Amino acid sequence: MGLSAPPRTLAVVGGGVVGSAIAWRAVLAGWQTMLVDDGRAASGSQVAAGMLGVVGEARIGDDDAFALTVDAASRWSGFADDLDAPDVRVARDTLFVGADRSDLAELTAVGEWCSARSVSVEPIASRELRSCAPGLGGIRRGVLASGEGAVDNREVLRALSRACAAAGVRTCRRPVGALSELDADQIVVATGAWLPALVPDAPVRIEKGEVLRLRRTPTAPAPPSVVVRARWHGRQVYVVPRPDGVVVGATQYEVSDRDDTAPRAGGVADLLRDAADLMPGLAEYRLEEVGAGFRPLTPDGLPMIGRLDARTVVAAGHGRGGILLAPLTADLVLGALADRPDERWSPVLDPGRFA
Ligand SMILES: Cc1cc2nc3c(=O)[nH]c(=O)nc-3n(C[C@H](O)[C@H](O)[C@H](O)COP(=O)(O)OP(=O)(O)OC[C@H]3O[C@@H](n4cnc5c(N)ncnc54)[C@H](O)[C@@H]3O)c2cc1C
Repeated sequence: MGLSAPPRTLAVVGGGVVGSAIAWRAVLAGWQTMLVDDGRAASGSQVAAGMLGVVGEARIGDDDAFALTVDAASRWSGFADDLDAPDVRVARDTLFVGADRSDLAELTAVGEWCSARSVSVEPIASRELRSCAPGLGGIRRGVLASGEGAVDNREVLRALSRACAAAGVRTCRRPVGALSELDADQIVVATGAWLPALVPDAPVRIEKGEVLRLRRTPTAPAPPSVVVRARWHGRQVYVVPRPDGVVVGATQYEVSDRDDTAPRAGGVADLLRDAADLMPGLAEYRLEEVGAGFRPLTPDGLPMIGRLDARTVVAAGHGRGGILLAPLTADLVLGALADRPDERWSPVLDPGRFA
């Protein structure tokens, strides 16, 4: 019998949800894995609301993005089971509501487009609406996307960190200045919004977003049992339940300065006003945290996942959906590392497609 080959070494740069999911899956697949992260406060994975949005992120006509989210959502329960973290799920369904006729018309058009692609949304009556989201001020109509839930993204990060440690991933807290510093057979770059610092030509721009975390007080009404996403006089606001409160989000505007991490007063004021308008009881909650983070966006809105060169795989540019897309991304990266790229997604997500 011949000697078996020693395990190959892998360095994953970036310990957000994407890099952590990849490191965990890689070590289980036999890679001797190191995860390097510099611990930035504006990491999207910390700031996010944790929605697993399919209908909520659908854009009419964008079939690839829609099919990608459908595929990603289908992998989440297996991922959570393997992670042995049943508590990460905080909601199973999403309720969509609108403030006025034009908001409702937009919701209806998106709902019809999704239903034509076999992801159905159902109108719900006012009694059901009151039972899943009792605090909705004066709203009588909505549509429900059953099975479109949310996870507690910070709980996911904690579970991934435990799973990585238990499986033998070595973690290292430091900035990587250049990929040439890393002594590993293979490298995965999963640095989200900061990809261009390590891969200079990567076309990743950033969209900033503010998010609020509110904690329920003893006299305040209970959080909704579903994710509530509203079109509110042309803006968007969502309320995502947590066991002890809610996450309210999110603003969105382009910035170019990756050090511009402070929340802006105007964005926070809009969120507070819209949320209290949508669910008046939230005004009694305690404002516990105001955060801001970056969504890393590519020119076509789809992530870059695949090989850059013989030693480097990239997994970044996950925009508004990195929490949803993390399990799928880990599967695709493991395929790329094994030189068995996924037939459906690797041409669509190829990092070289913008060259
Ligand atoms: C306001 C807001 C709300 C959102 N809500 C949702 C949601 O509900 N659902 C959803 O699916 N998505 C949501 N997103 C999007 C999601 O947060 C991102 O797509 C996701 O976090 C991307 O994950 P990532 O691991 O690629 O990047 P990040 O989470 O940003 O992680 C990158 C990591 O790399 C590290 N790093 C960077 N450069 C270096 C370096 N040179 N050396 C070492 N380490 C480095 C950083 O410190 C960071 O920890 C939201 C985003 C925002 C901003």
